Amino acid sequence: MTLEERDKKHLWHPLTQHKLHPETIAITKAKGCVLTDEDGNEYIDAIASWYTCMYGHCNDYITSCVSAQMQQLDQVVFSGFTHEPAIKLSEALIKILPENQNKIFFSDNGSTSVEIGIKMALQYHFNKGEKRDTLIAFEDGFHGDTFGAMSVSGLSVYNGPFEDFSLNVKRIPVPNGKNHDAILSTLQDIVSNNKVAGFVYEPLVQGAAAMKMHNAEGLNKILNFCKNHNIITVADEVMTGFGKTGKHFASLYMATKPDIICLSKALTGGLLPMALTTCSQKIYDAFYSDDIGKGLFHGHTYSANPLACTAALASLELLQSDAIQNNIKTIIASHKAFGNRIKTHPKVKSTRQLGVIFALDLDVKMERYGNLRDKLFTFFMDNGVFLRPLGSTIYIQAPYVITQKQLEKVYQVIEDALKII
Ligand SMILES: *Cc1c(COP(=O)(O)O)cnc(C)c1O
Repeated sequence: MTLEERDKKHLWHPLTQHKLHPETIAITKAKGCVLTDEDGNEYIDAIASWYTCMYGHCNDYITSCVSAQMQQLDQVVFSGFTHEPAIKLSEALIKILPENQNKIFFSDNGSTSVEIGIKMALQYHFNKGEKRDTLIAFEDGFHGDTFGAMSVSGLSVYNGPFEDFSLNVKRIPVPNGKNHDAILSTLQDIVSNNKVAGFVYEPLVQGAAAMKMHNAEGLNKILNFCKNHNIITVADEVMTGFGKTGKHFASLYMATKPDIICLSKALTGGLLPMALTTCSQKIYDAFYSDDIGKGLFHGHTYSANPLACTAALASLELLQSDAIQNNIKTIIASHKAFGNRIKTHPKVKSTRQLGVIFALDLDVKMERYGNLRDKLFTFFMDNGVFLRPLGSTIYIQAPYVITQKQLEKVYQVIEDALKII
């Protein structure tokens, strides 16, 4: 039996309606930007396995650091104990995070990092003796699949069955460069009628909403509004963090910095699951008390796992290396040239780019997970490129180590796909 056949017996895959999509592809190897399946077919991983493996799969430097750490300390409780990998990681991160960030809280995936951000925002006000029970979020955001994260997310195809179990959330449109005033008056209405604790948002790029991009100046105005009303701002940089936007963090594009930042995905370079919620001293101070009940009583068994911390530390070193920073510049320039080449194509409605994130909208109507999406996916895979179109959007977020030749192949396959739609 093939792996694909054996898989069907006991496995239930994420984000999959198994009746409609019975096929899975068994991957047996990954190195650099290439995935290999059980039949020996190779695919360029043009979305870095959901934006995680930005330094390439099985990166030699990251794996060798983790392998050394494995001989020394594998796992230990992080309540009451600490260890050097977590300490070193905190020191390295604080150097590059927005300057107001000063404390780091560990968890193991993007959803829980948002969950913790929400809890910090809600408990901040609780600890100050103020009852604030409402959150603000963008329309069409995506923040993960746990309950708090689902509540602030806007994609209801997935959240439908749970809508009645949601936190109180008011939604605002993303700033498009023209709607600042309308958004600010909506915000004014919201704060007049609700007690708002926090604002949870994906800064500048909404990943799951098909790489929808928005305006930095407008976002800055929203952040200022929040600041003036003591609404705790929670930047979900799970996708945008660690260089994707051309800066280390998307939040660095705005003058006003968030109170809290959520990070995961590329944090460990894709080697191990880990997430962080970072915050300013102001947030931390609201929990620092003689009253035990004012502490943040949230924890995960694997919080600050030493191996994951080591992978993150190695990844951070790579991110800041000249080699990776130069690669990022080259990819940005290549995407720009590709965008210019393709944007006048009759089947292309529009293109957009921020840093290494590139997206194009096709000029066709289709269901988000409709047939054309499947047809495109299959076409890309048949031609050796792993891309996951979202609705009528094709996007690229390749590892920083992708070669020019591999990148040209990705562009070519996309251009060829335009002929079959
Ligand atoms: C992927 C993602 C999440 C959820 O992270 P998981 O690790 O899948 O739980 C949250 N927010 C954003 C912006 C993401 O891209």
